[in-house]
Amino acid sequence: MRSLITSISIDGTSATTLIIDSKTGEALARPLLYNESCPDALPIVKSIAPSNHTVCSGSSTLCKLISWWASSDSSKESAVLMHQSDWLLWLLHGKIGVSDYNNALKVGYDPELESYPPWLKSQPYSHALPSIQAPGTIISTIKKDIRTKFGFPEDCVVCTGTTDSIAAFLAARATLPGKAVTSLGSTLAIKLLSTTRIDDARFGVYSHRLDDKWLVGGASNTGGAVLRQLFSDEQLDNLSTQINPNEASPLDYYPLPAEGERFPIADPKMAPRLGPRPQCDAAYLHGILESIARIEAKGYALLKDLGATKVEEVFTAGGGSKNDKWTKIRERVLGLPVRRALQTEAAYGAALLALKATE
Ligand code: ADP
Repeated sequence: MRSLITSISIDGTSATTLIIDSKTGEALARPLLYNESCPDALPIVKSIAPSNHTVCSGSSTLCKLISWWASSDSSKESAVLMHQSDWLLWLLHGKIGVSDYNNALKVGYDPELESYPPWLKSQPYSHALPSIQAPGTIISTIKKDIRTKFGFPEDCVVCTGTTDSIAAFLAARATLPGKAVTSLGSTLAIKLLSTTRIDDARFGVYSHRLDDKWLVGGASNTGGAVLRQLFSDEQLDNLSTQINPNEASPLDYYPLPAEGERFPIADPKMAPRLGPRPQCDAAYLHGILESIARIEAKGYALLKDLGATKVEEVFTAGGGSKNDKWTKIRERVLGLPVRRALQTEAAYGAALLALKATE
């Protein structure tokens, strides 16, 4: 099977950061995971970046780089910043310091200008920033030692990667503007392919470039985590069979697992609203599913208000996608066709990226 592989790409969690010595390939610091925060660097980032820029968050890659730069006494001249997938791909192709514009968004790369902005290029650590290619660009053929050790063909190429969530979007093959993917996992995340770029830090909305289009998205704190607080997966299956999805539920909730919402309403103090609870559990679940569908609809409406292409069709990924009654409720509430995505694995999306590179 391996002898048939002609192209490789890898996705990784964006903002998971490694600082590597480009001469030795050794890590100069412990890898920082995507959700680790470097609040010490945030005031510095805010003082150099435009207000509300994507990097203005304690967990951004830029905060991680600056935090390391300010606190480390290891040698810095040959340091290079790598994202998780850059590092893995580097092990395969051997050219250090190459990344893609999806992963590099959170370090401040501007995918529209196709360069780092002047406020970043003028910083003393700018030499540590990786050089950037479009996702799915051939970097080189696979290293000889890896090729022979694992039995890849001689012409097998290694391409730039992307982030996990973008790879999952690519997996659904939603390739036209107006197509969207809603992930109904622990939280509700929406992603929409748009011809226009929109960014609004108030709602945590930002755009990733995908060739000549933009992938815009936002994430609400509602979703499956609330359902799991109230029902087991088995109960969800059983109660759902009793729901008539064509009938509107009169119940109006705002299901949140804890205080605070970011998208489509930005309110860190927003309280969950999960009452009044009717006696019938199926009616309660119906009300909750419908309320989550309304939040999803509000999310797509907000993206449109902010200037994105209008949503036309929604594919669904995540644990909630297997609930056909919920899908029907969502079709009614959204007023759109809703389908379960055939493929939702990020690895499938990365494979499509690798395929595109050689076409
Ligand atoms: P994540 O990867 O974000 O943890 P998953 O995509 O694995 O989440 O989905 C898990 C979620 O799906 C759980 O929170 C659970 O409540 C929800 N879920 C599982 N079964 C159903 C169902 N039949 N209907 C609606 N939601 C469901």
